[in-house]
Amino acid sequence: MTDCLFCKIIKGEIPSAKIYENGKIFAFLDINPVNHGHALVIPKEHYPNLVDTPEDVLDEMIRAVKKLAPAIMRTTGTDGFNLGVNNGEVAGQLIFHTHFHIMPRREGDGFRHWHGEPYKEGEREKLAERIKSEFANN
Ligand code: AMP
Ligand code: ZN
Repeated sequence: MTDCLFCKIIKGEIPSAKIYENGKIFAFLDINPVNHGHALVIPKEHYPNLVDTPEDVLDEMIRAVKKLAPAIMRTTGTDGFNLGVNNGEVAGQLIFHTHFHIMPRREGDGFRHWHGEPYKEGEREKLAERIKSEFANN
C-alpha cells in the first residue's frame, strides 16, 4: 500500500532499526518504546489489522515472536515480555498495517496493565453464552 508507513519501512523508503527479516516477515524496534527493545513484528504483505490477516501469515508472525522475544530479553536483560495487538482505532491502533508489539518487561518498570470492568452476578456466564452462540452462528 503506497501511503502506509510500515510498507514504506519494508521497502526501505523510511529507515528502521531492523532486527529480523524472512520471506514473509519483517521486525524492527518501535520508535517510541515502552522499554528499550520494544519491537514490532509485521508481515511484508499489507493487511490492515489482525482480523483481516490470513491465518498462515499470523502463524509466521507468532513463530517470529517465539524466536525474537527470548533474543530481545537476553539482549536487554529483561525477564519477561508482553505481546500486544491494538486492533481498531478505539483500541489505540495508529498504524493500519497489522503488527504485534513485543514489549520486554522488567521488575518495577511502571508499565501498567489495563483496568477492569467488573461483572455483576451472573453477567459473565450470560455473556459467555451469547459469545458462544454468536461464534457458532456466524
Ligand atoms: P499501534 O498503536 O499499535 O498502531 O502501534 C504503532 C506503533 O508504531 C507505535 O508504537 C509507534 O511508536 C510505532 N511507530 C510509528 N512510527 C514508527 C517508525 N517510523 N519506526 C518505528 N516505529 C514506529
Ligand atoms: Zn502497509
